[in-house]
Amino acid sequence: MPYENERASKTAHGDFVKNPDIQAFLNTCEYLTPPGEAQTEELTSVFSPPPRLPQPSHIELVLATDGSNYESALHDQIPSTRLGYLKVGAVLFSLKEFSQLREGRFIDPFKVAALQDNNTALSFVLPSANVRLAGKTSVRDSFRAALDEQLLSEKTRFDPKNFYTSLRSTLFHLASRRPGDLGTGNPFKLKLHKCPTCETGPVEVEDKLGEQTCPHCGAPVYPSDCLRIWEEVTEYQSNQVPLSRLMMVLEHLIPLHYIRFIEQKALLSLNKIAFFVDGPLAVYGTPAWLHRSIMIYLHEVNSKLAKHHQPPLLIIGLQKTGQIVDYMRLMDRFLPPNRLFAIDDEYRYKYILANREASKGGFGFETYYGQDFIFKTSQGRTFVFALPYPYPSKDEPGSDFLREKTEWSRYPTLPTAIQLLEDLQTELYRDALVPIALAHRYTAISLQPGGRVLDLLTRRALA
Ligand SMILES: [Zn+2]
Repeated sequence: MPYENERASKTAHGDFVKNPDIQAFLNTCEYLTPPGEAQTEELTSVFSPPPRLPQPSHIELVLATDGSNYESALHDQIPSTRLGYLKVGAVLFSLKEFSQLREGRFIDPFKVAALQDNNTALSFVLPSANVRLAGKTSVRDSFRAALDEQLLSEKTRFDPKNFYTSLRSTLFHLASRRPGDLGTGNPFKLKLHKCPTCETGPVEVEDKLGEQTCPHCGAPVYPSDCLRIWEEVTEYQSNQVPLSRLMMVLEHLIPLHYIRFIEQKALLSLNKIAFFVDGPLAVYGTPAWLHRSIMIYLHEVNSKLAKHHQPPLLIIGLQKTGQIVDYMRLMDRFLPPNRLFAIDDEYRYKYILANREASKGGFGFETYYGQDFIFKTSQGRTFVFALPYPYPSKDEPGSDFLREKTEWSRYPTLPTAIQLLEDLQTELYRDALVPIALAHRYTAISLQPGGRVLDLLTRRALA
């Protein structure tokens, strides 16, 4: 993170920036600084009053997902031997129920607790430093086997008896749509870019039970190897990086898992649900390729909905941290209520990303599947959110993606999203939405004292 840690002591921070060596160094750097009074008029002039719904919203339900992860030593005296835990919760609630809950000045904690009961959390346990599954020779191979097994397990299935309803099958649906040579066009097959053992590729695997092997070297290959999380797994060090990466992937996969299920069972009810994702609509790092498959899949579902004269899916990525959120902290007091801005590349690279070099093909070309917006509600709360791009790809023939991606009229769900953000802003959680806050509270593995419980669980599992 390029910005100061808020938890750091203020005195220490003051001494640190007064140091002449640091001052001299800072003079050679470019970084985000508070805008001057004169500059702010130019900065806020790009904002306009948002489009509003002429009629009440068709959204009845909200589904929000949020994850947390934690790595624990198996034993106090052997801190180098570790297990990873990961939990992604999904909260589903009705807006009607929620508005009843908000009636009056105080939120009834018992009603909040009842809302929390209407959710499910998926948890994963993965081997980390110095822990191997029986029969495996490395942490990496153990991690791969455990991840694949858990993505396929009954706990991820909508129908426990049918493994095609597992989260791993949803991954097949996405990976088979991958553009280029790694796509298969068949939702029961996907290609790994290479075998993790002999590094020859591509290798095709099927959506079936039982072990599959590499045709080149005979070593086991797993469908979920396609996520390439294994590339960041280390044998002897903390695996916090791949754990966080996996959590991020799951936060995007799980709403799509629900969408795939609802699309098959009750397509038309999709337009009653708003899906909230924590963070920008983007997939970073080794699994970044997924973002293109997600664009294609969402476009397919939206085309089906359009045939029934239904609006597209409402998926909202809500950002609580990051560079835009930091930027808005500096800007917020200059911005009047009831304003919206779709961030374009020029503005982003000039003001928010402090002169970072523009990426080829536009900002987020390799990672983003949605457009970022900044919205200040009529009550003066500011949200940074994203809606999926209204295209199956960023290089559609006949479209000028970089310009068109910021045109409000291309996002038919924008007024609904605005209405929803207005409805859900709350006094309870400052600049955070209730569904995410609920999801977070439910899934959060707190390091203290909750983490102790996990430490104990780990030891019991080992005993
Ligand atoms: Zn191989």
